[in-house]
Amino acid sequence: MHKNRIDLPPLPDRIKRLPVDERGYPVPFFVASVNGAPDFRVFDPLKMQQCVRERLCWVCGEILGRYRSYVIGPMCAINRISAEPPSHYECASFSAIACPFLSRPHMTRRDNLPEGTKAAPGVHILRNPGVTLLWVTQQDARPVRVGKGVLFELPEPERIESFKQGREATSDEIYESIESGFPALVKAAELDGADGLGCAWACDPSR
Ligand SMILES: [Zn+2]
Repeated sequence: MHKNRIDLPPLPDRIKRLPVDERGYPVPFFVASVNGAPDFRVFDPLKMQQCVRERLCWVCGEILGRYRSYVIGPMCAINRISAEPPSHYECASFSAIACPFLSRPHMTRRDNLPEGTKAAPGVHILRNPGVTLLWVTQQDARPVRVGKGVLFELPEPERIESFKQGREATSDEIYESIESGFPALVKAAELDGADGLGCAWACDPSR
């Protein structure tokens, strides 16, 4: 039994109930086990199904309340697509602040996923967006089948919060992130066809 690391922000109760990996990070519900250990880069497709079917939180696995929060990159706010189902607001904001990939822009995604594991469907922009958005709504996103996977069409948000390096992002940082990511989004859309769902897959909590 490992202990949570001390440099994490205060843990919401639902996060406290999650198992802890050997580095001291709580292991989100969606994380797949690879060779007997949690691999934060890989989601478990069965957990994805369970979240959609039973309206469970992607991060803690407990039942959602009235609000759904989607953790996305700025490009996903443009194409209104999330690669992941929603979370509780507390779980989503904890992820945006605590997750090493989301809170530290100099970290890049680790590729070379284990053989046989799944990346999310769609065309992904493999960059660290620096800025993470919380898209908060009371409506359910519409799941859309893409190949063998599912993406989520985001409904109108009630509010959007933005984070960078574990704090609120400034408007300059948000614009900078959009400007630098937009060419890649256009390229992804071209690759994906005229009505495709090119998705800036923002969030890999080293996830
Ligand atoms: Zn939760």
